[in-house]
Amino acid sequence: MNGTCGTCGTCGAAIRAEYHLCHDHTVPMEQHLNDLPDIIAELRTTMARQDAGADSLGGGSTTAQPAINLDALDAYEQLRAVIIGWAVALQGRSFYFITTTEEAGAYLLANMDLVRRQYWAPDLAVELAAAVRRAVTTTDRAANKISLGECGNVFEGVTCTDTMTAVVGEAYGRCRTCGATVNVHDHQRALIDAAWGVRDTLPAILRALKKSGHGSIPLDRAEKWVERGKLAPVIPFLRRYTARDVLATYEQTPMGKRVMETRKAKAERNTTLSHAA
Ligand SMILES: [Zn+2]
Ligand SMILES: [Zn+2]
Repeated sequence: MNGTCGTCGTCGAAIRAEYHLCHDHTVPMEQHLNDLPDIIAELRTTMARQDAGADSLGGGSTTAQPAINLDALDAYEQLRAVIIGWAVALQGRSFYFITTTEEAGAYLLANMDLVRRQYWAPDLAVELAAAVRRAVTTTDRAANKISLGECGNVFEGVTCTDTMTAVVGEAYGRCRTCGATVNVHDHQRALIDAAWGVRDTLPAILRALKKSGHGSIPLDRAEKWVERGKLAPVIPFLRRYTARDVLATYEQTPMGKRVMETRKAKAERNTTLSHAA
């Protein structure tokens, strides 16, 4: 049997006969499933957060706010239906009764090789991407924001302590409290210079990178880099690493390379546009 007579149901690329989804279309799906617990946690927070939720719904009217953010609830239901639905398709009906959405997502992720052999794998990829996009949009686009640290702007003798944020890919960040703006690239460089060399454990560094919007790197992946000698601790005995080393290793991976290049291209385009304006 010819080893490459299958086609990807999404892009038509030639792949191994038993597969229905190419590698490039499997990676984003794995990333979504890997991020699932965090996405659901964000949705739960948004569901309960009535004030911010009303704004993100385009509210701001004088009508009473609902007790729950229905948009976030809908987004969660959609995500749950997709994940549980396809987990049931792969495993059998009992899944519907015994597992949480997170567990069903972990099950799909753990059985990705089997998923790729299903004729419906391209459908799952499309539905999952749509559900995740909706969830992320609903949660105040929190996942698309980069924290730039404390504002520090001095206004009428008072130092502003609010957090500066920027939308990923924008050239300028802004403080919501005092309105001060900063060049994201310059500001990040200054922050990075200060924080990059700090030595910490791998989980602590990954959390910091994720929280600051630099990249979502699963712990097991980073541990594999260490196993393969791609990432070395700065203090081997205490297993301490630096964020600089972790991100440098991440940028060498296909996924990291793509994320960084996209981000850089967007920032450069936006800088050019704002200079032209
Ligand atoms: Zn494909
Ligand atoms: Zn400020």
